[in-house]
Amino acid sequence: MRIFVGSLATETNTFSPVPTDLDDFRKLIYFRAGEHPAQPTPFTSVLWVAREFAERHGWTIIEGLCAGASPGGLTTRHAYETLREQLLADLSAAGQLDMVVLQLHGAMVADGYEDCEGDLLQRAREIVPDAVIGVLLDPHCHTTQTMIDAADVIIMMKEYPHTDGIERSRELVQLCLRTASGEIRPRHHLFRCGQISLYHTTEEPMIGYVADMKAVEDGQAILSVSLGHGFPWGDVPEMGTHVLVVSNDAPARGDAIAQRFGEAIRAERGRTCPQLMTLDQCMDSLAQTAERPVVIADCSDNPGGGAPSDSTYIIRRLLAEGYSRIAVGMIWDAQAVRFCKLAGQGARRELRVGGKTCRLSGQPLDFDEVEVTGVVDGATTDFGGAPWPVGTIAGVRTRDVGIVLSTGRVQCSSPDVFAQVNLDLADYDIIIVKSSQHFRAAFSSMGAQVLYVAAPGVDDSNFAALPFRRVRRPLWPLDVEH
Ligand SMILES: [Zn+2]
Repeated sequence: MRIFVGSLATETNTFSPVPTDLDDFRKLIYFRAGEHPAQPTPFTSVLWVAREFAERHGWTIIEGLCAGASPGGLTTRHAYETLREQLLADLSAAGQLDMVVLQLHGAMVADGYEDCEGDLLQRAREIVPDAVIGVLLDPHCHTTQTMIDAADVIIMMKEYPHTDGIERSRELVQLCLRTASGEIRPRHHLFRCGQISLYHTTEEPMIGYVADMKAVEDGQAILSVSLGHGFPWGDVPEMGTHVLVVSNDAPARGDAIAQRFGEAIRAERGRTCPQLMTLDQCMDSLAQTAERPVVIADCSDNPGGGAPSDSTYIIRRLLAEGYSRIAVGMIWDAQAVRFCKLAGQGARRELRVGGKTCRLSGQPLDFDEVEVTGVVDGATTDFGGAPWPVGTIAGVRTRDVGIVLSTGRVQCSSPDVFAQVNLDLADYDIIIVKSSQHFRAAFSSMGAQVLYVAAPGVDDSNFAALPFRRVRRPLWPLDVEH
């Protein structure tokens, strides 16, 4: 068995002003053919699993380019075409293949390409007309018809936070193997739910749906059931929540299951993620309870959704209302990091923080004096069990606040970034994280109350307020019930 693996992934927020260029891939995940290290990254669990299979079964594995960038605005045409050509050149050079297994995101949009994954898969299919092509997607994907037509098996991670990359990768490689050996004939069944929303699988009703999807997969007629959450900040025609079933050539059964799950998800409209608080409601909630610590998820400025991660609305409001013992992680501010690095650990200086990228970043925070608590070059943070590069981070402290600043625009998925710059979260009552859900896995052990807050920002979850132009309508909640 000869298997090719590769990866190209980013999630494009078409409303974000932050361009995604080659450097953004090089800074996060960029391993040329054969250069991938021993441990998996969140975008390369398929490669890691393929190695495991290859070793156990004596397969030949050919490792192509693996590249991934943090979610951001439109990918430049140069970046996409360069990476695509590199990956396809690796594929062309791989010789005769039985399987091609790719880990993509499914919501990558580049200048001139509304459906990067569809474009890539079509070109891959031309190179390997007879090999089995299997694809693992992030659930925040668009799953276009072009992608379905070009691939043999597409499955998605089921959990959000995406903690099941390894598990799903094993399923995918197993399904590709069974297809290559002629044991199964996969067929896709797609049901579009006509809606956009967020689906937190750490809460009901989504915990139950994930369990139900797994229960329906019998390994015989129904091979895989995925819920494509969709990525609401990607304004492309096929965006929206969808169910993708892979059957073993069971057209009626597969369609029926996709429809059954799809209609059930439609019936849950408005109940699949926590209701976000306004900033006013957040202040009321803090005033009403003395329970601390509290974690505030700044959902509208989540770099994991492509936002700048430098808005200041929540912290400014807290300071204005007299709160202290506030920690914030991480504010994307390369200039402030540089100033702190030049000053050195223990130094005290004035500092302007955040509020720089765009109008929705709000006003910067001006501190007359901060203490630099630590600076770490080449830092990483734990993201679902894998180290995630965050660039250089700096910690600063005043009497009232402790802030982690970073040169990498990365969501705060773990408390480990605070410790690295000598900020002890036990000293803080209110912790603001630039993340909307991925922080939950690592922060839950703190036993903190969590408030999901919709301050102004690029990741505004009031979808009706976003200036959609390209997505197919009608779509709930942008349009009246349909
Ligand atoms: Zn995702």
